[in-house]
Amino acid sequence: MHHQKTGCIFFYMKIKELVRNIENVYPPGAAWSSDNPGIQVGSEEQIIKNVLISLDISKEVIREAIETDSNLIITHHPLLFHSIKKLKFGKDYRSDLIRDLIKNDITLFSAHTNFDFSLNGVNHKLADLLELKDIRYLAPIEAGLFKIVVFVPAKAADTIARVLFDSGAGVIGGYSECSFSSGGTGSFRGSEGTTPVIGEAGRYETVAEVKIEVVCDSWNLTKAINAMVAAHPYEEPAYDVYPLKNTNQNFGAGLIGKLGEGFKTDKFLKHVCDVLKISNIRYTGGENDTIETVAVCGGSGADLLHTAISAGADAFITADIKYHTFQDAENKILLIDAGHYETEFPAMETLLNLVKKIIVKEKIDIFITKMNTNPIKFYNNYWR
Ligand SMILES: [Zn+2]
Repeated sequence: MHHQKTGCIFFYMKIKELVRNIENVYPPGAAWSSDNPGIQVGSEEQIIKNVLISLDISKEVIREAIETDSNLIITHHPLLFHSIKKLKFGKDYRSDLIRDLIKNDITLFSAHTNFDFSLNGVNHKLADLLELKDIRYLAPIEAGLFKIVVFVPAKAADTIARVLFDSGAGVIGGYSECSFSSGGTGSFRGSEGTTPVIGEAGRYETVAEVKIEVVCDSWNLTKAINAMVAAHPYEEPAYDVYPLKNTNQNFGAGLIGKLGEGFKTDKFLKHVCDVLKISNIRYTGGENDTIETVAVCGGSGADLLHTAISAGADAFITADIKYHTFQDAENKILLIDAGHYETEFPAMETLLNLVKKIIVKEKIDIFITKMNTNPIKFYNNYWR
């Protein structure tokens, strides 16, 4: 959006415009039900100065935002997740962060599990770094898919299909604008007082119609139906909405894919360390194995261990793994804890590239934080 004023051109973009574009790619409707993605603190009406991207919010990150004249911080982890009942400055870290954001007119926006569960999300970045091929979701989300069936006069069929596609309907895996159309005959009799587009009130009419079928995610359903009804030539459009039992192929937790060539366990552990630029990982199992099929879930994905095993993964990389989960996995899979920060931070580059694609105004700078927000440090006794 640009705004012209007496010969000068002032470029500006409001935060809400950027947020809308990000959430088209990472829909909040796809997030885990108890998650809290979206704007955490601030105003979506603000005009963007610069943008700072970080895995977490911290006092250091806010200071960096001030120094870089960024009035929008985008994080993966939401600041407001567990409830906060009192704002006690100087006594509570989160209260201080909220105060510092407000005092400095900085808006905080988070894309959390919606970023984890979507195409080109956290796990796609991990899979890319590990060079996995033929990737698919480890656990596609099960709810939220609908079928919209609408009957339109043949002449309006293309328009109606277009309106549905533009509302986000008709996406299956990597394909968009998917629909099925079949021809037939519709009939109706308009009662007294109706004004049918075709034929006359009070008379039995038949008309050549097309039946269009598209799938639609739950969070796009209202938008798609409203747009379709508004664009439909009939006074009373006929349409059906069915809930589907299909898993949603476009969203899910974790990914599974194949390495181009098998790695011996030792070599694979080194590969993981190299691509994630880390020197320590915790693991179990995988002795004398050749690793070909690999499952990944950035952050806390230990709940997916048995899904990874039954999906035939030779290795599963995630984080926050407990002692007994390691015991559980022994001899069934090479289970790797590569660190929460370490498995999620690489995806900040994905966010950076997306924001750069949306904001094409040269006046706005977009940065990834230089602060290391990992609360976990490693102490290596032997190296001292
Ligand atoms: Zn995380």
